[in-house]
Amino acid sequence: MGDIVVKQGIIMTQSERSWNLSVIVDGAPADKVKELLDSMVTKANDFSEQYGDKISSMTAVDIKEMLSSLQNFQVEFSDAISYGRLRFRADTTNKESSQINDWSLQTTSSIGQTLKSIDLNLGRLLSEKPELIQDPELSDFKHYLERLYKASLYHLTEEEEKVIIQKDLHGIRLFSQLRESWVSEKTFEVEIENEKKTLTYNQLSSLRMNPNRDIRRMATETLYKSYSDDKLLHATALRSICADHMAMAKLRGHPSPMTQSLLDQDVDEKAIDTLLSVIENTSDKFREFLKLKAKIMGVDSLEGNDVIAPITENPVWRFSWDEARKIVVDSFASFDHEFGTVVENMFINERIDSANRKGKTSGAFCARHGKAKSSFVFTSYNETMNDLSTLAHELGHAVQGHITYHAQVPLNWRTSSCLAEMGSIFGELLLTDKILSMSESKEQKIEILSTLLNNFFYTVYYVGLRALFEKSIYVAIEEGKLIDAETACNLWDAAKKRVFADSVEWNDYMEFEWARIPHHFMPNFRFYNYSYCFAQMLVFALYEVYKQEGSAFTSRFRDLLGRGGTKDVRDNLLDFGFDINDPAFWELGAKQANRFLEELKDLL
Ligand SMILES: [Zn+2]
Repeated sequence: MGDIVVKQGIIMTQSERSWNLSVIVDGAPADKVKELLDSMVTKANDFSEQYGDKISSMTAVDIKEMLSSLQNFQVEFSDAISYGRLRFRADTTNKESSQINDWSLQTTSSIGQTLKSIDLNLGRLLSEKPELIQDPELSDFKHYLERLYKASLYHLTEEEEKVIIQKDLHGIRLFSQLRESWVSEKTFEVEIENEKKTLTYNQLSSLRMNPNRDIRRMATETLYKSYSDDKLLHATALRSICADHMAMAKLRGHPSPMTQSLLDQDVDEKAIDTLLSVIENTSDKFREFLKLKAKIMGVDSLEGNDVIAPITENPVWRFSWDEARKIVVDSFASFDHEFGTVVENMFINERIDSANRKGKTSGAFCARHGKAKSSFVFTSYNETMNDLSTLAHELGHAVQGHITYHAQVPLNWRTSSCLAEMGSIFGELLLTDKILSMSESKEQKIEILSTLLNNFFYTVYYVGLRALFEKSIYVAIEEGKLIDAETACNLWDAAKKRVFADSVEWNDYMEFEWARIPHHFMPNFRFYNYSYCFAQMLVFALYEVYKQEGSAFTSRFRDLLGRGGTKDVRDNLLDFGFDINDPAFWELGAKQANRFLEELKDLL
């Protein structure tokens, strides 16, 4: 039994801090879930039979009818698939969850083939008749069609696309799943303050942020040693997934290994190149912050484990689950009443899994529940300010989702990751202001601001360098180098050096950090990380505007949040008044960060 928390006047154990996923499948048992998944395959086949052959001669009215039907099916389908995935992430040791997840993956692959051919044929039609994109009948789907047209330039034949989906299932997807299960089932025998303990992966990983340097160092070295011990698995998975990506990119005629990501993120390479060069060129700011951090921590120089550590040695503040709930709800409600209600409902409706359990995978995320125009939040809560901030972050996603799902048709729900973090990081900033107003001592204020700045600098620079690392992996593959553990470690160290220079003494085994980062192992999803830096800079800029405009900002921001995928990243932000191709834009976010930094300096 875990910690006792009070929720709605009821005493709850930590094991009860679980989400209720059964609403996704209306409480169906496993065999009924299998039937549901099978019925999705049948529906997709029916869909394909009804429309497939007719696409090449469709009028705007026909396309509208087909897309309306398609989006309804996609809502149903993605809910059914997500059920298995969420169960599996919450407990990879549960055999039934693992089975349902396998069925879901098979269903995804099978339906993926069917839907892919719809996209392909529609893309082909649009390349022959681009005027259809401008047809007023299709105004709801205009940007969706524009993106389909753009992507169609790199599509292979229908048969080739089918083969790719099939070979991925037992190739790179299996590699990724094997690695994830392997890591999450691990336990670690450690000694903490003369006490022997057995820790889950998440518990050990969380100790890397422990305020005590000895514990942090132990956790860091234990964790990364395990990656070193298993280096054959991790390096082989990385090589398989990256080499596969490179081969596919060449086959499709992508101009760069980044093309797939740029199409996915609906953004141009120019903006991302500007962002990456800003990260490298302003890394002296980051090192300045690290120097300040070393000074506050009272150490001569920072070790690797210090970079993500809280600045203050002892956490001044802990937040029980009950307190966390009240604080995050109030934070969002202080900005907008509806924001607060959306967040409150996430707790009331058992949409959050915050428990710690063996077999639960690491990380935190927010997943869509389309039918209910709502979301599920996944996180492991250990009462620290960092955990509180993560909770606010994921609930911010739920808020953005809520607004988008109610404002747009389902085909426009998905937005670029560059814009998908607006609600979440804004939520972190609202939380910051909320707890700053609650704080009663200088120490608490220092903890709040240092946590915030740690996150900002971590995301922009430490996460940013992952894009530099990924770029170098593809250069190495292009040069014919074998991506083994040694090469990956060398490339990781080289990328770190471009941002950190010599400001940090890295702990033993930290050259294996690349192996810990799940995004490096997501099949068909490369260059995921730059969008985090993009988002961080963007939202800090937005917050600066909020501080200037006050309540006038609320409706403008709500409009921006609810845009979904109706325009590309640059156009959406141009409407708001930001030009991401203008270097000055990137300085706005840094300015806001500096404001917080000065505030922190004043307190010291
Ligand atoms: Zn996020």
